[in-house]
Amino acid sequence: MAKKVALLGSTGSIGRQSLEVIDALGYQVAALTAGRNVDLLERQIRKYHPPVVALADEAAAEMLRGRLSNLKEPPQVLYGRDAARNVVAECDADIVLNAIVGIAGLEATLTALAGGVDVALANKESLVAGGDLVLKEMAVTGANLLPVDSEHSAIFQCLQDVHSAKSLEKIILTASGGPFYGWNPEQLAGVGKAQALNHPNWSMGQKITIDSATLMNKGLELIEAMWLFGLPPERIEILVQRESIIHSMVQFSDHSVLAQLGMPDMRLPIQYALTWPRRLPGPAPALDFDTLSGLSFGRPDADTFRCLAACRRAAEKGGLAPCAANGANEEAVALFLREEISFLDIGRLVEGCVDSDSYAGGYALDDVVLCDAQARQYVREHL
Ligand code: NDP
Repeated sequence: MAKKVALLGSTGSIGRQSLEVIDALGYQVAALTAGRNVDLLERQIRKYHPPVVALADEAAAEMLRGRLSNLKEPPQVLYGRDAARNVVAECDADIVLNAIVGIAGLEATLTALAGGVDVALANKESLVAGGDLVLKEMAVTGANLLPVDSEHSAIFQCLQDVHSAKSLEKIILTASGGPFYGWNPEQLAGVGKAQALNHPNWSMGQKITIDSATLMNKGLELIEAMWLFGLPPERIEILVQRESIIHSMVQFSDHSVLAQLGMPDMRLPIQYALTWPRRLPGPAPALDFDTLSGLSFGRPDADTFRCLAACRRAAEKGGLAPCAANGANEEAVALFLREEISFLDIGRLVEGCVDSDSYAGGYALDDVVLCDAQARQYVREHL
C-alpha cells in the first residue's frame, strides 16, 4: 500500500534523502515543511503537489504564496513557529517523518503521536528535550516511534525478535569518532568552522556535523537510546567504529551480540522507518565486502570531548538536564558557526550549563520550553 508521508524539514539533508526514498517506494507526499528555503520548497511542491505546506519564516511564506499563485490548485501555506505542528494536525498522513533540526521539531512529534499517527524520527532533539512527554503520548494513543538515526535503526532492527528483545543486556552504540578522533585539547583549540564541518564518512546538515565533531551527537544519541529502548545510561556503551559500517549492536543475556551493517547511507534507515515492519527494495547501495579493507574499533575520549561527558551526566541526572544540555548546545553551535566562540567553548558551555542546576523532577511542555530558553541564556552569559 502506498503510504502518505508528511515530511517535516524536507529541504534539509535528511528531508532530501527521504524524498529519494519516497520516490523509490512510490509513496505519496501529504505535506512538506521547511524553515526558510523558499527555492527548494517551491521545486518540491511543484513535483509532489502536497495539499498543505509550511515555512517557519513568515516573509518566506509570503514569497512562496506569490510564486505558487499560478498553480491550478496551490497548497495551503502555513507559517510561523507552530506551522509544522499545525501541518501535522491538518494533514491526512499515515506517517510523519520529522527531519526538522533542533528542539523546533518537538511539538510536531507530540502532535503526531497525540493524533495516533506513527512518527519516523530523525529529530533526535524531540526525545532528548522532551522524552517523557513523547513516551506519554505514545502510551495514550499507541502510535509508534520509528528511529531514523542510523544507530537507533540498527538497534531497532536487532531487536525485532521479541523473545530476544526481552533478554537485552546492553546496547553498543557505535560512533565514527568524527574528524578529530585522537586529537588532544591543544590541537582542538585552533579548530575552525571549515575543519569541523568536514566529516570523514557522512554528509549531513551543519548542526549535526558540528555535533559529530564535538561528540555531542553521540551524547544526544545516548539519551535518545535510553528513551527508545528503555535502558539506563550504564547499559549503553559507546564504541568507536571508524568506518561507519557497523551502525550499532546489541548484546543479550547469553552474551550473543547482534550487529546491523550497511553502507554509511541514510536512505536505508529512512526507508526502514517508512516501510516497517516490512523490508522492500530501495535505493541504498549494498555493502561490498571485497572493497572493505577492515573494521577498526576504539573508545571515545570523554576527557577531551566534554560534550559527551556532559550528556552522560545529564542522562544520569534525568529530569530536564538533557533538555538543558540540548538547549545549551544548540546555542553554542550557532555561535560557533557564526565564528563567535571557539570549538572547545562548545563543550565548556554545555558542561557548565548541565552542572549549574539539579534539573530534577517531572515536567510539562511549558517547562521544557522554559528550560531550553534558560540554557540558551546561560550560554550567552558565560561566553
Ligand atoms: P538540515 O539542517 O540539513 O535540515 C534541517 C531542516 O529543518 C531543513 O528543512 C530546515 O529548513 C528545517 N528547519 C530549520 N529550522 C527550522 C525551524 N525553526 N522550524 C522548522 N523547520 C526548520 O538538518 P539534517 O537533515 O542534517 O538533520 C535533521 C535532523 O535529523 C536533526 O535532528 C539531525 O540530528 C537528525 N539526523 C540527521 C542525520 C543526517 O545524516 N543529516 C543523521 C541522523 C539524524 P531550511 O532548509 O529552510 O533551513
